[in-house]
Amino acid sequence: MSTTPRLRYEGREIPIEEGETALSACARAGIVIPSSCLSGACQSCLVRARSGEIPAAAQVGLGPAKKALGCLLACLCRPTGALELEALDASSEYKATIAAVERLAPTIVRVRLRMDDEMSYRPGQFVTLLRADGLARAYSIASLPSEATIELHVREVRGGQMSGWLADPARVGEAVRLRGPAGECFFTSEALSRPLVMVGVGTGLAPLWGIVRDALAQGHAGPITLLHGARVIEDLYLRGPLTALARAHPGLDLRLCALHGEGDAEVTIGEIDALAKSTVAAMPGRASARAFVCGDPAMVARLKKGLFLAGLSLREIVGDAFVEGPRPAAAL
Ligand SMILES: Cc1cc2nc3c(=O)[nH]c(=O)nc-3n(C[C@H](O)[C@H](O)[C@H](O)COP(=O)(O)OP(=O)(O)OC[C@H]3O[C@@H](n4cnc5c(N)ncnc54)[C@H](O)[C@@H]3O)c2cc1C
Repeated sequence: MSTTPRLRYEGREIPIEEGETALSACARAGIVIPSSCLSGACQSCLVRARSGEIPAAAQVGLGPAKKALGCLLACLCRPTGALELEALDASSEYKATIAAVERLAPTIVRVRLRMDDEMSYRPGQFVTLLRADGLARAYSIASLPSEATIELHVREVRGGQMSGWLADPARVGEAVRLRGPAGECFFTSEALSRPLVMVGVGTGLAPLWGIVRDALAQGHAGPITLLHGARVIEDLYLRGPLTALARAHPGLDLRLCALHGEGDAEVTIGEIDALAKSTVAAMPGRASARAFVCGDPAMVARLKKGLFLAGLSLREIVGDAFVEGPRPAAAL
């Protein structure tokens, strides 16, 4: 087996060094492949192999359909021989229009997208949203397929290119493209009576808002515990709709948690991972529970570990870590 990497992209020979990723080699050659997190989590840099051996690491996290098509993640692809890649064509993208931008909290907006092309998805999966200039970022889907628009919850990050752009109400009417949907973070109805645990930090609530309503709509009969955590109480968005949902469904136990602020009857002040751990440790039937954990990557890692230590099976803890792209060197 050859160990000298050789790369072609869209028919062009791209100089590549040993151990270098296809994404980086293309960037050095002046070819911009949309990308974001650079760690394989967001799938923004998906491309397809025309020929050659695909390194296994470049397909980690991709579903069987994408693997069968030869799709791979350029940010994780370190060719070990000759590899020829091509961009995904327009048929793998869906056109959409920004239909509404609504502020839900001081730093969080709800963006509604009207689909111009039909897209099947499961609530809780994520899409790659592409701007006209090719900027690409992943966002989780908070809506149900029965709804007229796709709902995203976007945290406006300081200096963030996409989130700052999306949070501006002047974007209504702008065209975007979507890729995906992707990810395993969604409700499956094969065990309708087992307990469900959902923990979201910040906009990590987005997928859970879709999953919890999907589960209830599909007749999930087991207990559901939903924890939403934020840094400050004001960022506990959708509090009214969540409370109303819990009132309408006695099997839904809603816990809100903020790191700072004055707690009240509904909000606990403290670390959400501690609250999640103690809540789950006291939960009957936890060994058969399925858990969804989404949001800040460091917190997702802590939550997964905590839920496992509280008695959940590691196999049954799924979720998405909202990995952001690297900060520009000047901002470090
Ligand atoms: C699977 C997945 C699902 C996701 N789902 C969601 C979701 O539902 N909701 C959501 O809000 N996010 C979600 N994200 C994160 C999202 O994809 C973006 O990473 C996020 O919105 C930031 O993108 P941006 O373009 O605004 O920031 P970028 O421009 O990419 O900035 C990246 C980082 O650099 C910092 N930075 C950039 N420029 C400067 C500067 N000049 N000075 C200081 N710092 C700077 C930013 O603050 C940020 O931390 C998800 C990510 C993944 C991987």
